[in-house]
Amino acid sequence: MMELWQRLSTYARHSILLAHREAVVRRTSEIDTEHMLLGLLRVGQGEAYQVIKDLGVDPEHLRLVLGQQLSGPESDETLCDVSFTGDVLEALGLSAAQADAEGVAEINTGYLLLGLVSIGQGLAHDVLAAQGVSEQSAQEAIRATERVQVAAREGREGKERDVGHPPPAPQLRVGLGYDLHRLVGGRPLRLGGITLDYPKGLAGHSDADVVLHAIADALLGACALGDIGQHFPDTDPAYVGADSRKLLSTVVAMVKKQGFAVVNVDVTVIAEEPKIGPNRDAMRQALAQILGMSVEAVSVKAKTNEGMGGIGRGEAIAALAVALVERPSDE
Ligand SMILES: [Zn+2]
Repeated sequence: MMELWQRLSTYARHSILLAHREAVVRRTSEIDTEHMLLGLLRVGQGEAYQVIKDLGVDPEHLRLVLGQQLSGPESDETLCDVSFTGDVLEALGLSAAQADAEGVAEINTGYLLLGLVSIGQGLAHDVLAAQGVSEQSAQEAIRATERVQVAAREGREGKERDVGHPPPAPQLRVGLGYDLHRLVGGRPLRLGGITLDYPKGLAGHSDADVVLHAIADALLGACALGDIGQHFPDTDPAYVGADSRKLLSTVVAMVKKQGFAVVNVDVTVIAEEPKIGPNRDAMRQALAQILGMSVEAVSVKAKTNEGMGGIGRGEAIAALAVALVERPSDE
């Protein structure tokens, strides 16, 4: 294993560390092929990510599908004794063999992906196969990616064929969002993508989900795309009673169109009532689903306003959100 580790590219090593984390948060002591694939997807760049996109599969969708198929509650617990399953060891061996066959010293994420596809079993293989990724198509896409890389490097840096260069830093952007709606009788309370059992609801043109609106503004802010009032004006009858989950999905699509992926989202709900704690995990699940990201990258916190002002009197609920997005460097 040590010898193999030495041959891994920076992204490939990073993906294995992330695979370890995927296994740990799911309280499993074995890193299986699906954790390896999640690790490759979570790196967000590198050859495997590119190959998956080249094969017409949306990496974010793949990540969502895999996340849904994995059982077990997520936890913050740290397991020390984590080992690889036999399938993963076999896949790693195949990755090395494929790199050898191509005469490539370094095992990049593309070869890790190829290894996972080539073993012909395991959840990663099955999910990839369901998306139409076969051993042959992956192999061809990896060769194509490599040719492009080598050509680009030779054009820019002479004859150097070094695949071990450090990856360019991704572009990071952060955005802030804030929203507030009044609480009134006779409306369901929509908050954080779910409906809460409470005698009052938030008043507004749409379903007035302040959490979703704050997140949407944070994402738009991160990409400097304006604000939700601009994109979904409250004078437009199309948005009367609108499901804010759809508004947020539209914003996520706009973010992706700019080439950005959402890294994490953190929300603070400011409400005197009802208690957010018992609904926190349901909200995180709902938000993760809309945002197409894993639950551990979505945080929901709550505060009261200590009885002060309109929020303190239970007349309104507010929400603050920050979102981090990243895209590969243009370099
Ligand atoms: Zn709003």
